[in-house]
Amino acid sequence: MPNYKIAIVGAGPAGYFTAQAFQNAQTDELTFSIDMIERLPTPWGLVRSGVAPDHPKIKTVSKVFEKIAKTEGFSLFANVELGKDISLKDLRERYDAVVLATGSSKGRKLGIPGEELPNCISAAEFVPWYNAHPDFINVEVDLNTDTAVVIGAGNVAMDVARLLAINPLELDPTDTAEHALVKFKQSQIRKVIICGRRGPEHAAFTAPELRDLPKLENTDVYIDTEQINQAASRIEQLGEVEKDLRNNLEAMRLIAEHNKKGVERKLEIRFLSAPIEIKGRDKVEEIVFAINEVKDGKVIATGKTITIKAGLVVTAIGYDAVEYAGINIENGRITNIAGHVEHNVYVTGWAKRGPVGVIGTNKSDSNDVVELIISNLTEPKVSEGVSSLLKSGHEVIDQLSWEKINASEVISGEIAGKPRIKEVDWKRLISLGRS
Ligand code: NAP
Repeated sequence: MPNYKIAIVGAGPAGYFTAQAFQNAQTDELTFSIDMIERLPTPWGLVRSGVAPDHPKIKTVSKVFEKIAKTEGFSLFANVELGKDISLKDLRERYDAVVLATGSSKGRKLGIPGEELPNCISAAEFVPWYNAHPDFINVEVDLNTDTAVVIGAGNVAMDVARLLAINPLELDPTDTAEHALVKFKQSQIRKVIICGRRGPEHAAFTAPELRDLPKLENTDVYIDTEQINQAASRIEQLGEVEKDLRNNLEAMRLIAEHNKKGVERKLEIRFLSAPIEIKGRDKVEEIVFAINEVKDGKVIATGKTITIKAGLVVTAIGYDAVEYAGINIENGRITNIAGHVEHNVYVTGWAKRGPVGVIGTNKSDSNDVVELIISNLTEPKVSEGVSSLLKSGHEVIDQLSWEKINASEVISGEIAGKPRIKEVDWKRLISLGRS
């Protein structure tokens, strides 16, 4: 009975759904041994370090990941870095298929003057900072300003803006990083402005996330009704309106028209404002925007500008895949054809298709890639796996060690009335896994 050895690099949603697709494809005649390799000492990828802490429901998908991890034939090798502890060449030689599920973690750049000023931060740093990612604990975030600007009209921009705009006491019962919670509680920010460069009809927000905004207890959310009306009449002229777009505009209209509570914390969403310069002496002080308009379906500059005074800018304008030896990146993605990279190397998730889609999108994507891999399999290899490639003494966090870390975090959380308190220190994470 052929048993194929599969290496999956990256223990995020795309990696787990790939493992699940292999598990689901097993028959009496075909089985898979799956080694999941992860650079961090903890698995779950963006479910741990990306999903907003005030959206705990989304994180319940981790239960699915743990079920996959407990299925026979699955092994976790966390605290093992591709390109440092093991090479892609080694994996290619020893495994029947290697699937890269390494995501996109490099924040895209605006490419405008002043972007390098202190307190202009990419969401690629800000989000893992408040989510206790061990690589981002020292990100310098200064919240000692009354206004923050978030650039981008997608769900990441919305997460970031919400976290900055809500009363931090609302984060007490969440798994927000302790260091971030302290900073949020000292924050002087009372106004957060999300700026999208195109119109409401072009925004990448999704309706369920928009519909949550008027429900915020301690924050009033503003959108200019006129911008929504104009967008609605523009799209009506184009003919049939797609359901998602109609829902989005409706959700924005609800925000624009809902009664304000008159609280001091404010979140505003502005459209047709493209950043052209960030100014400040020693840190961000103001942002200059070109005002755009939509004419004949095209977004064009009006020639007018507006300046917003703000002491913090967070850019949430998308991500690119990280580069490492032996891998080509094109347009921010690992070069691939329908998930095939070269020889027995494949790619899935954001690294394959770019940073689009929610967690569940990775499921169908991974199913397709696994189907392709299975159709390309030949004679199974006879070789040793990851352990034989690592230097002696290398501390691997396997599933059992991870369960110890997980249990320890959950127990600390229970005492504090939170789902968990995340450990942020790499060494302490490893020693928790050893305990
Ligand atoms: P996104 O949805 O692609 O949004 C990126 C935004 O940045 C767009 O509005 C884009 O505007 C804007 N942008 C790009 N370059 C810009 C520039 N130079 N200047 C100004 N604006 C610029 O990306 P994302 O927000 O990072 O989210 C990634 C994926 O994760 C999305 O599929 C999202 O739905 C998903 N996600 C889901 C949730 C959730 O379900 N709760 C939470 C977070 C993320 P243009 O359209 O004009 O390019």
